[in-house]
Amino acid sequence: MSEYAGDYVAPPSLLKDKIILVTGAGDGIGKVAAKTFAAHGATVILLGRTTPKLEMVYDEIEAAGGPQPAIFPMDLNEARIENFENFAEAIDQEFGRLDGLLHNASLLGQRTPLANYNFATWQQVMQVNVNAAFGLTKTLLPLLEKSEAGSVVFTSSSVGLKGRAYWGAYSVSKFATEGLMQVLADELEGVSSIRVNSLNPGATRTAMRATAYPAENPKSVSSPEEIMPTYLYLMGNDSRGESGKHFSAQKR
Ligand code: NDP
Repeated sequence: MSEYAGDYVAPPSLLKDKIILVTGAGDGIGKVAAKTFAAHGATVILLGRTTPKLEMVYDEIEAAGGPQPAIFPMDLNEARIENFENFAEAIDQEFGRLDGLLHNASLLGQRTPLANYNFATWQQVMQVNVNAAFGLTKTLLPLLEKSEAGSVVFTSSSVGLKGRAYWGAYSVSKFATEGLMQVLADELEGVSSIRVNSLNPGATRTAMRATAYPAENPKSVSSPEEIMPTYLYLMGNDSRGESGKHFSAQKR
């Protein structure tokens, strides 16, 4: 069952003084989420694999008068546990805690029958979409515990709730993402103030969507800006107490 918070109206200073990490912050939904969080007062940590894209987001946030962000280039396909540990150490030194973690970076992989699916591509998709999300979460948990009310948001998809032909590793990785969210939420329930949820953005106008649906008119689907109410709701204190749930950013 999906929850819906797409009608949420965020106060302008909803995320004031919060430290929020966004993975895949250089493009698509992650870029808009980072800018939106900053516009609501958050100091955002921009993680992604393409440094110039992160620098552009950094500049746009500064130009808009948002709190100075931080940039951490990291290729999640190459990252090992030591990289995550060093990253957590750096955040600890700089900020001393983490209030929000948006797992947004993902690879689409191939759209092809499993019988033809390339094994190396399968491993990359699972590495970025699942293993890296686990590694980051595990190493960042102590910093999230230092927050008054930490929020972890995993990015899901409709093919993570019901398998669909030709969606291969991407679909399977999103089922795993739901599992990761549920296991962590259950472990933290009653013993931690950290809440953990998953969020399906729904059809959204990005490079990934255009790759998955090349014949589609991009204007027929929502812009990343239109789906931000749910992202704000889950990162802000109004969602305290919500945990272990799957949210859909769009009604359709
Ligand atoms: P995009 O492909 O447009 O953006 C993905 C971002 O993740 C990019 O910034 C990309 O970096 C980054 N990324 C990819 N691989 C890595 C890596 N190895 N290391 C670090 N960063 C990486 O995707 P969307 O914005 O469309 O998707 C965002 C999330 O929403 C994903 O989790 C996706 O599965 C989910 N989603 C999207 C839907 C849609 O319709 N758009 C629908 C359902 C779910 P770079 O810019 O360098 O390529």
